[in-house]
Amino acid sequence: MLKQTDKEFSFETSLLREGAYINAPATNPETAPIYLTTAFNVEDLDDLYERYEERGFCYNRNRNPNRSALMDLMTYAEHGEASVICSSGMAAISTSILALVKAGDHVLSDMTLYGETIDILKHILPKYNVDSTFVDFTDLDAIKASIRPNTVLFYTETVSNPMITVPDLQTIADLAHNNHAVFIVDNTFMTSVGIRPLDYGADIVVNSLTKFANGHSDAVCGAATGKKEYMDKVYEYQILLGCTAEPFTSWLVQRGMRTMQLRVEKQMANAAMLAKALETSPYVKRVNHPSLKNHPQHNLALKQFGNENKCGGMISIVLEDDKVKLNAFMRRLNLAHYAMTLGGYRTTLSHPISSSHYDTPEEERLKMGITFGLLRISVGIENGEELVQDFLQALEVYAK
Ligand code: PLP
Repeated sequence: MLKQTDKEFSFETSLLREGAYINAPATNPETAPIYLTTAFNVEDLDDLYERYEERGFCYNRNRNPNRSALMDLMTYAEHGEASVICSSGMAAISTSILALVKAGDHVLSDMTLYGETIDILKHILPKYNVDSTFVDFTDLDAIKASIRPNTVLFYTETVSNPMITVPDLQTIADLAHNNHAVFIVDNTFMTSVGIRPLDYGADIVVNSLTKFANGHSDAVCGAATGKKEYMDKVYEYQILLGCTAEPFTSWLVQRGMRTMQLRVEKQMANAAMLAKALETSPYVKRVNHPSLKNHPQHNLALKQFGNENKCGGMISIVLEDDKVKLNAFMRRLNLAHYAMTLGGYRTTLSHPISSSHYDTPEEERLKMGITFGLLRISVGIENGEELVQDFLQALEVYAK
């Protein structure tokens, strides 16, 4: 804080100082204040060194009260020992990976991941002489066959994007640890309301908080949470790479997370209801959602997530490979609308080959099952029955 003094200064100096104090008691506000400041003043060098010592607040890129508050919330929510809060989900993912690999290492990754995570492994890591292999993480034999002596990292998502497959986290964690590798899991699609990967043996869980966790589509943010020994390394890289989340963003996400359980539980229940209804439509060739009995990992999903109403808020459906009909379907929907994001309180759609997998070569895309007619649905908190009816009426465009 500025020094308080009775001394009078000129107008130009006073403009910088007056009103800098809150003179009435202002402790314990009902909601946390936003510390929109790049730095904190210290009294003298003793005060400065004391703050270094106790990891107090000095400079915003290193530490900020709003970011620290969100760290505590994420550490609690994901059952970790520590967290870092980053400027985006991608920042949390790239920083965690970069902090843990070195030249000559090998990463073993799931093949159906968020497209830009694949880009990090495929296009950035090779520049630093780190190789990656992509296999289907629902195929344990394929994972075992791809482990190399220099494999240091296993990487997957709790529910894959956009095929909605479900890997067996505990078994994969055991495989990783038997080979002295670190296991990172992206929990963006499920959040800690749905599952806590650290409880299943993951070493680090990464989240795009931009999505379900914040849930209001008004902030871009990410987190990595895990054992302290790993988080200390990730924190060190984060400070140097400069990808910390801003105070206002941290505050917004913390506010969003206060209602995360209410929202995500409703989103998951609505998703199960919608998936069941879409499965009966003659115009939908396939519905991918772990709540459905024909989902290849249905039993595993029930074991990991709890029951049919807790299998996540993300669905994908396969429609005809016909752009004119797809456009007509999208225009006829009253509730779900197209958005380049997911996890908001309203239902949104995306077209993976025009967004998350735009750069993925056709052959690889098709191998993953990503066809032109694949639509990803992020289910919101609308009245479930109204949502179902709206989808069913819009699908009638395929009758023509
Ligand atoms: N992980 C998953 C599963 C995602 O779907 C996304 C974005 O859609 C990300 C990570 C990246 O998050 P962000 O956009 O916050 O960087």
